[in-house]
Amino acid sequence: MCETFNGYILEAKDKHIITLIEMVRQALITRMTEKREGMLGYRGPICPKIQGKVEKLKSQSRKCTSHWAGGGLFEVRCHPDTFVVNLEARTCSCKKWDLIGIPYKHAISSIAYKKENVEDYVDACYSVKTYMHCYSRMTYPVRSQKFWDETRNPLVLPPSQRRPPGQPKKLRRREVDEPQNPFKLRRNNAKIKCSRC
Ligand SMILES: [Zn+2]
Repeated sequence: MCETFNGYILEAKDKHIITLIEMVRQALITRMTEKREGMLGYRGPICPKIQGKVEKLKSQSRKCTSHWAGGGLFEVRCHPDTFVVNLEARTCSCKKWDLIGIPYKHAISSIAYKKENVEDYVDACYSVKTYMHCYSRMTYPVRSQKFWDETRNPLVLPPSQRRPPGQPKKLRRREVDEPQNPFKLRRNNAKIKCSRC
């Protein structure tokens, strides 16, 4: 998520601090509104991309047969393997449902056996309700910089730049325990020859 956001604010990253914060704030206003408005016309219970995945899995699940064992337990035969699905615990022995929160084809076959909605078994993090909640906050509009109040606090100046002697180091500092190439001669082990040899 950090890397995605980093890429999103790429243009602002090398700017002066106030310009940077302003660019990020403006980008966020646009993003929040676009995301909110994009979902307004959508009527499904889960987000469109996830719904697409569920539809694919629904058609794949037709190759599996579910056998109800009792309670929420099912034996799902999907050639050449057999799996155990627990609809009450929302798990499957293949572990895919447990990992991603979306019922995999084995579980979908059991949900179809019970004539229930697959969407009701998808994790709440994929629901449109959760999505809208994430983008529900408002980024408040701000007037441009010339309208800002001037502070009565003392002026904050940037620290004076001190340039250490010599060329700036380009190579990164290695960790103390970082593995080193045993075949490479290090400077402190180098053979020293006198100029006459
Ligand atoms: Zn499974």
